[in-house]
Amino acid sequence: MQNDIRKEILKDLKRVVIKIGSSIISNRDGGRAGLTIGLNADHVRRLAGTIRRIVDRNCEVVLVSSGAIMAGRERLGLSKAHLTIPEKQACAAIGQSYLMHTYEKKFEKEGLKVAQILLGHDDLENRGRFLNAKHTLETLLEHGVIPIINENDSVTVDEIKIGDNDTLSATVACLVDAQLLVILSDVDGLYSRDPSKKSGKKQDAPKLIGHIDHVTDEIEKLAGKSKSSVTVGGMYTKVLAAKQTMSFGIPTLVVNGLDNKASDKIFSGESVGTLFWAGKEKIKTRKHWIAHTLKPSGQITVDSGAKKAIVERGKSLLPAGVVSVEGQFAFGNAVRVLDEKGTEIARGLINYNARDLEQIKGMKTAAVRNLFDQNFYEEVIHRDDLVVL
Ligand code: GLU
Repeated sequence: MQNDIRKEILKDLKRVVIKIGSSIISNRDGGRAGLTIGLNADHVRRLAGTIRRIVDRNCEVVLVSSGAIMAGRERLGLSKAHLTIPEKQACAAIGQSYLMHTYEKKFEKEGLKVAQILLGHDDLENRGRFLNAKHTLETLLEHGVIPIINENDSVTVDEIKIGDNDTLSATVACLVDAQLLVILSDVDGLYSRDPSKKSGKKQDAPKLIGHIDHVTDEIEKLAGKSKSSVTVGGMYTKVLAAKQTMSFGIPTLVVNGLDNKASDKIFSGESVGTLFWAGKEKIKTRKHWIAHTLKPSGQITVDSGAKKAIVERGKSLLPAGVVSVEGQFAFGNAVRVLDEKGTEIARGLINYNARDLEQIKGMKTAAVRNLFDQNFYEEVIHRDDLVVL
């Protein structure tokens, strides 16, 4: 039954976000051997092979990779347990470029192009910047590039940070409308009991939970807090990340990536790790959020052709179909879409501010392209950001 669910998820998988924990690409035994833990290029090379195989299945891949601070620590020779914030930021700055350099070299050998995107809390909280990031990611994917995302650690201080890449990867999965988030870390998944705590009784032996369809308070408690010295999040942030993606209709799979075969096992539908998945019925949550949570900042009226395209054919709204514009909205705001009788037919997130839209309403796409050049969007509201009421 659980395997069937996994196979179902994998069957039409076209876009996956994979979170790479620092421990997956570190020289894992460095700590034990008394060395500073650092980046291991061989692990990155192996990862490149795995991603190649996923891409060959006709599936787009977005990576969220940790490891900047770990790599920078090693390069600066900072082995002490606790770093100050400026030290962490310096490590992130030196480590991030080294990390990307390594990714670029190893992925190139597999014929894969990579691109770096560093995101901060602000980029994700602000809807306009959120959409901007989304457009950049979409464009990279269209060109067959593997985006590699990390938090912009070198300029953000702890108080305003996202803080861990589990949370970041969940947000990215929602941002790109992925069909699956895979979190590769050094934990096997969620256990029925903390596996690091010994118990004499056999019946108390911790069991790996293969499938979770609802993140209850009890599950959150089970996840506990982080234990590893290299990773930031531990199981707790993974469970919260899964909760986030599930509410957007995206399954999350937490798997131990220290097993070199883990990814191949995942993609052959083997039952590894813990799958968090409540089923497809929640898929409309994001649209629910657009339609019911956001307060519209303005409204636009569309002609009958555009109405038909939106309502009957599930298309995006283009400038040519816009008849009039009301209100002071900015890029990324929610707006009401009305037909010519004044009935609200849809709501969506707008790609142009009110002033620009006033200028381009009714215009053909080619003319808008000439006018806006770099800030050009083909759609006034993309269909993914549009909810027909
Ligand atoms: N952004 C951090 C880094 O690259 C890691 C955060 C995490 O592992 O959750 O070093």
